[in-house]
Formats: sequence, structure tokens, C-alpha cells
Amino acid sequence: MQLTLWTYEGPPHVGAMRIATSMRDVHYVLHAPQGDTYADLLFTMIERQDKRPPVTYTTFQARDLGGDTANIVTRAVQDAVDRFRPKTLLVGESCTAELIQDNPGSLAMGMNLGIPIVPLELPSYSKKENWGAAETFYQLVRTLLLERSKTREPRPGREGRRPRVNLLGGTILGFRCRDDIAEVTKLLASIGVDVNVSAPLGADPDDLRRIPDADANVCLYPEIALSTCSWLTRTFQMPVITTVPIGVGATRDFIAEVGRVLGLDVSAVLGGELPGAASLGSSHSRMPWYSRSVDATYLTGKRVFIFGDGTHVVAAARIASEELGFKVVGLGTYSREMAREVKACAEKYGVTALITDDYLDVERTVAELQVELVLGTQMERHIAKRLGVPCSVISTPIHVQDVPARYSPQMGFEGANVIFDAWVHPLMMGLEEHLLQMFREDFEFGDGAAPSHLHSVAPSKPDAPASALARVPQDTASTPVVPEPAPAPVHTSAATTASGASGAPAATEVVTPVWSPDGEKELGKIPFFVRGKARRNTEKYAAAQGIGLITVETLYEAKAHYGR
Ligand code: SF4
Repeated sequence: MQLTLWTYEGPPHVGAMRIATSMRDVHYVLHAPQGDTYADLLFTMIERQDKRPPVTYTTFQARDLGGDTANIVTRAVQDAVDRFRPKTLLVGESCTAELIQDNPGSLAMGMNLGIPIVPLELPSYSKKENWGAAETFYQLVRTLLLERSKTREPRPGREGRRPRVNLLGGTILGFRCRDDIAEVTKLLASIGVDVNVSAPLGADPDDLRRIPDADANVCLYPEIALSTCSWLTRTFQMPVITTVPIGVGATRDFIAEVGRVLGLDVSAVLGGELPGAASLGSSHSRMPWYSRSVDATYLTGKRVFIFGDGTHVVAAARIASEELGFKVVGLGTYSREMAREVKACAEKYGVTALITDDYLDVERTVAELQVELVLGTQMERHIAKRLGVPCSVISTPIHVQDVPARYSPQMGFEGANVIFDAWVHPLMMGLEEHLLQMFREDFEFGDGAAPSHLHSVAPSKPDAPASALARVPQDTASTPVVPEPAPAPVHTSAATTASGASGAPAATEVVTPVWSPDGEKELGKIPFFVRGKARRNTEKYAAAQGIGLITVETLYEAKAHYGR
């Protein structure tokens, strides 16, 4: 085991928590020490769930270790069943609890609780979160279909009804699973296919018992659902649709595969899809046309590095290379279970796959490859930020901003639109920044530049030195006014009256403050597009306060004044 600051995946019991939290009427008793409850925050803070995950922790403490910790397990199991009344109970242990070998699953099985118990044995020191989620889902489906698998009764035929499939693999804390399921459901409806069960996300144990009633399974996220789909094929002869519909090409392939497996004519939908055609009407998605449009052509050939889970990396490489015209210069995954698929994908693009769960390896590779865009997880977002490279997040691990309020799928034709926006905009921002840097000294962007959209306002003289902005009394025009740092008298009408009363010249004096060198230097640090305004506000403030020489302090006093 390696201590690390950041990690791509949690321990396998976090994967089990993801399955329990994705479902209804399932509860998870987790034998774990006090402190392991930290994982709750993943679901409430990152996934924005409005309730705690359905997990009861045994929360044993150091002083319990000398006594009967098995007792703590059975008490927690009984309490959870009495309080939450789940239809199915998962029982497992965290990394630390694994070491005390209480075997909580077996303890719960011996309690005659009257509901299905799924004992989880998830090796914490050799496996990780996605594997834990996949294993939990598989054990859950197997347990709930045990009776049906024994009888081996034939699955119901179609008998004139519409074909139906199961969507398997979507979970809480996955990447946009909620919206992907909605999008794929719509896509299937457009070719006359119904969804029988979508699981684990949104399903309850009774739904899992209905899985064999479908004509096929769609393996939406192989990381989570592949082992379950394979078992369903072996046990119930259910075919599996394996194309993951992320990107326009993959969505077309997905529709074609569904048609093939279910014996449907999908030509009406695919007929509207003209691969490679450059017109807005050639696809249900705007991506093909936008990516060929004038706005996007200058993105062609951008050097892209892709890293994440297996499903999203393989899909992203195809989109980047075939649909957006980018050049894939490197790709990889942190998922050892998906290493084979990712290596095969890398070969296709003539690069070597980076299989690692050490973010420092990834950072080194991104720096060496001199990439222009990173498509990755939240870890790569941080890496790209440090290296000043644009980045878009395409995969777990996610952060709170990757759980958007708006509809934001990755799959299907709408998903391709979302991907186009999410990947191309960071590049546009990069270009804009570059242009701003290039032209920042142009007269149009100078402090004195008049708004370019107002024809009636004449632009001020370019490159006018700051001191020229100080206007002086008419009768002393030849001598610039450079007041002392001490506040000068305020030359307002009231002050003028007072001067007049004291015998000073009664001429109307308008003294505009001038900038000290340090004030001017500090002003230069303000971004150029707001500098003009900062200058004017500070001068106005100084004049009102009777300050003749604007120093750094005056600048900040003015800032505070206008900020109030
Ligand atoms: S020991 Fe395991 S469960 Fe506990 S904090 Fe570490 S990773 Fe999490």
C-alpha cells in the first residue's frame, strides 16, 4: 500500500457504498472504525445528495479491540434492520476492520433476519473502488436471482410487444450517469426499444429480480457492469450490447448494434446520419458540423492527452481523433481492470498507454508531451492548471462542479453536443488569453481608450503619459502642479471662498492630483482592461479628498471607498 496525497480511486468498500447509495431499499452495514465515516462526504458534498448514504457503521474504537468486536457487528446489523427496514442488506468491512477478521458477512448470515443478506468480501489491500462497486453489484444480482437461476425457466418471448433492454452500470459518483441514462432511454425510444430495468442507479431489489425479463443487457459502464452482464449471459443467455454510445460515431454504432441484437430495422434513424458529411443536417448532433465549421477548424491538430477510467478514455480518444480532428499524443488509465482495452486503444493511435495510479507519473507525462489540451479527471484538471494547459474533465474522480444542475449527458447525440462545448471552450479561452496578451499594448486597449462602440466619443491621444492627465490652473499652465504628499487643501467652491476670505487669489482653481511613481507602478499591476477605470476612480477620490499626490495608499483607499 502506498501513502499518497491524492488518489484516483478509494478502497473497494467505497465502491460498495456507491451501489447501496444508488439503489432504493438496500442498506449497507460496514464494519469500520470511528473516522471511516469520512466517506459520507463524497455523497453529500460531491454528488450533492440530500441525505446521508444508507450505511450503518459499527464505528468500533481502539478500546473495543481488546473485547468482543463481533458483538458490535451483530448489534449494528440488528439495529440497521429494525430502523431502516431494507429489502436487502449488504454487510462488509473497511480496510482497517479487515485486519481484525470478524467476518461480519457470515455473522449477519447467521442471524435469520428474514431478508436477503449479501456478504461482501472485498480485498481492501489489492483492489479498489470500481472493482468493489462491480463486485457488489454482481453479488447483489446473483443473490437476488438465485432462485430464478436454479429453475432455469426460459425467458419470456416477445409475443408482439416492443423489445426491451436493461441499462446496467450507472451509479452515484459515476460521470454524468443520471443524464446518460435519460439520454440513452430517449435514444432507445426513438428506435422503438423500451427500458426494462436501469440498475443499480434508481433500482430496488425487486427491479433486479426482473432483469431476465428483458431481451438484452446494455453494458453502459463496463467498469461496473461487465462482470454482471457476463454472468447474465452465462446464466440466462442474455445477449450484451457492448458499444458505449459516447460520441457521434459510437452512438451510430450503438444504434446499429441494438438493431442487430434485437433484430430491428434502424435504418430510418441511421439514414439521417451521414458520417463525415459537412452540413448541419447530416447528424442528430451539432458536433459534426460545428467541428468542421470555420470557428472550429483552427482547432485541428491540437495535441491532446487523455487520462481517466477506461470507458471514457477509449471513447474520448475516438472523438478527439475522428470527430474533432485533434491529435492524440498520449493516453492512459488508472484502472488496472481496463488496462487491456486502453492499451489496445493506444496502439490504434500510435502511442504507448500510461497505466498508473500515481498522479505524479501523469503530471510528468503531460509536461513531457507538451500538450495543448488535457482531457482527464479532476486530478488532471489540477495538473493542467499548474502547467497552464487548458483542460476538460471527462471521467471520475469528479468534484462538485462535475455534478451540474443542468442536463448534461455524455452519451447519445445530445451528449456529443455537450462534449463539443466542454472540450472546445477551454481551447477558445486559451486562444483569447493569448490574443489579449499579444495586443495588450495596442492603443485600442490603452487606459485612455474610448469605448469602441460609441462613435460620438473621440478616443484620447494614445500613449499619453499619466502625468499629462494632471490639469493645472489656467494661470500657471507652464508649471505643472506637483503637490506635497501631505493632503493639500480641497479646492472646492467652499475652499475657494475661504481662500478668498483670507486674501488668497480668488481665481477658480481646479487642482487635479498627480501620480507618484510608486502609485503609478502599483496601478500598472491592475489588469489593463480595468486599469483605466481604476485610474479615473482614484483621481476622482483623491480630488474629493484634497489629496494632491496619489500614492499606493491612496490607490487602495480609493478602492476601499468605491468597494463600500
Ligand atoms: S484505512 Fe481504509 S477505510 Fe480507513 S481511511 Fe484508510 S482507506 Fe479509508
